[in-house]
Amino acid sequence: MSDTVLVGQIEHETNTFSAFETGMEEFADASLHYGDAVVSDLAGTNTAVGGFLRIADSEDWDVVPTVAADATPGGPVTPEAREALLDEVLAGIERSDPDGVLLALHGAMVSRSEEPRSSENGTDTESDSVADGDGYILERVRAAVGDDVPVMASLDLHANVSDRMATHADGLFGYDTYPHVDIGDTGETAARAMAATLRGDIDPTVVVERAPLLPPLPELRTELDPMRSLLDAAGEAESDSLPDVSVFGGFAHADVDHAGFSVVGVADASVADDARDTCRSLADEAYARRHEFDRDYTSVEDAAARAAAWDGDDPLLLADIADNPGGGSAQDGTELLAALLDTGVEDAAVATIYDPEAVVAAIGAGVGGTVSVSLGGRSGENGDPLDVTGEVRLLSDGDYRNYGPMSTGLDVSFGRTARLDIDGIDVLVGSHRQQPYDPEAFRSQGITPERANVLVLKSTVHYRAAFEPLVDEVCEVATPGLCTPDLSAFAYEHVPRPIYPLDPDAAT
Ligand SMILES: [Zn+2]
Repeated sequence: MSDTVLVGQIEHETNTFSAFETGMEEFADASLHYGDAVVSDLAGTNTAVGGFLRIADSEDWDVVPTVAADATPGGPVTPEAREALLDEVLAGIERSDPDGVLLALHGAMVSRSEEPRSSENGTDTESDSVADGDGYILERVRAAVGDDVPVMASLDLHANVSDRMATHADGLFGYDTYPHVDIGDTGETAARAMAATLRGDIDPTVVVERAPLLPPLPELRTELDPMRSLLDAAGEAESDSLPDVSVFGGFAHADVDHAGFSVVGVADASVADDARDTCRSLADEAYARRHEFDRDYTSVEDAAARAAAWDGDDPLLLADIADNPGGGSAQDGTELLAALLDTGVEDAAVATIYDPEAVVAAIGAGVGGTVSVSLGGRSGENGDPLDVTGEVRLLSDGDYRNYGPMSTGLDVSFGRTARLDIDGIDVLVGSHRQQPYDPEAFRSQGITPERANVLVLKSTVHYRAAFEPLVDEVCEVATPGLCTPDLSAFAYEHVPRPIYPLDPDAAT
């Protein structure tokens, strides 16, 4: 008889410094699918659920699809959204009495209790049982299925893995890449471990070892050391009895008491001690090599000067690494655009500035019309608005599908979008916060990115997967924004201390 496996996705990477609340509307704006649509919309995509479904097919499982939800990173998930999404999973468990549960989680979701505690900067989540949103979800799911039904979850490489998550899961599986081009593969790895568990081939347990490290986002690129060699060593340690070893960089912009670097193994109980030793030695190596995480970045002024002088065959790509909505930044910073305009750069294309009010003004002017707006800067997190006048070149619904290596086949959207020509620079202005990591972000708006002289992307690392082949050079620009690698910009209250780089000598 076929096994019944419940499938669900509740993903959010929460930047606790963000003022953007994450409710059901934000999930609906990004990616939200219920019931059978979980299968019809996500089968064949490079997503964790897509990976689950591929193995479900080959194992001939009876799949119980419940909900698949993923919102653009931002502030904490509201209690209403958290409970509504979790209720879909719990109702599926009640209805189907599954043999196993496969969840796609992020691992850095932070939520609030019903009655938020007052706090000046919104980070006072320490005593809140839902501050560890993923641990909370796994605990509730565990309570619903009991101890005998395996519960496994895929996690993002940026997961802040808590003991609670490890306690309530039989398997936690992280992406091995950043840019995350192996999300579907990770879903498959989790589902294969589920299949081995259901067959009785393994009796899985989760081991977690930590390092006092909180690497800024750009330092976790997996083509560079130390992540590259740590991941290689993790892969070499894997075996039938230790089907997965994950290196989690953590998410430095979630100020929670379980934030930071960890190495996690999913091991048969018989080899759990050896697995723990393996994870411990990788965590120790990561700490010993902490200075290898350090990077240098280009100032906004230097980036603008390089752009003005650029004469390559292919574009110069300026990465607005700090104002990345994919890590919870507001996506409304204009400092880099202002510097390009000041230096007279033309033939550039910018994706994407979040400013719904400017889009409304552009719609009012119509295609071919001229619009004068104070662009961006409305969040107050990234500097002031920029007064600009531009010609409206295109208006659209902002919808597009990723065809690049990351989240391939997934439909995403900038919401209603205006393309403005501002002194020769094509500026995309959107109504939803959405990281532009796929060339379709430009192509869907009538821009051929490889033909521009200069490209500007509000993305920290993910753009590299699809854009590096299209450009001559990449420049990581030290813009303002909530994804800045300069962690001294944040008033941390909860992350465990000491931790590197906040504390230069964090040795334990
Ligand atoms: Zn990530």
